[in-house]
Amino acid sequence: MPNRPLSADTIHVSPDVWKQGVRALWRTTGSRVTKPRVRVLDAIMRYQTPFSAEQLCADLGQSISPPGRATVYRTIEQLSESGWLARIHTQTGEAGYVPSLPGHLHHLICTTCGVVIAFEGCVLDDLLVRLSSQTDFAIEGHLLQIYGRCATCK
Ligand SMILES: [Zn+2]
Ligand SMILES: [Zn+2]
Repeated sequence: MPNRPLSADTIHVSPDVWKQGVRALWRTTGSRVTKPRVRVLDAIMRYQTPFSAEQLCADLGQSISPPGRATVYRTIEQLSESGWLARIHTQTGEAGYVPSLPGHLHHLICTTCGVVIAFEGCVLDDLLVRLSSQTDFAIEGHLLQIYGRCATCK
């Protein structure tokens, strides 16, 4: 069976690239690289599907010296604002996070196993220009997530 190459538009977030990116962010924002923060990063990388802040706190709470809740929440907030975490809304309305890369990305979410695939190449630009001129709306942003079953689950 021939290997079908991934389309150039899908984005693979490799753990090494992700961790280096976050550390670079910390350097440029003057955030200290503390052990609790690094533990939060390591825990985030272990999730295969979107996680919530509460879930992360609970899972870290099992470790020997867990980071404080404030550290967990502040780290999530910083990474989310800078694009290193993407906020995902599941079909049941829960919000979760997945490691991501800064930039204009959208996500495919498997409704069966929860796997998330990021892609770039937003097709909404033309629509937004038209909507803006028809409604005189100053459009500031948009959300787009695609639900379905992944190659393994379908
Ligand atoms: Zn799946
Ligand atoms: Zn878009």
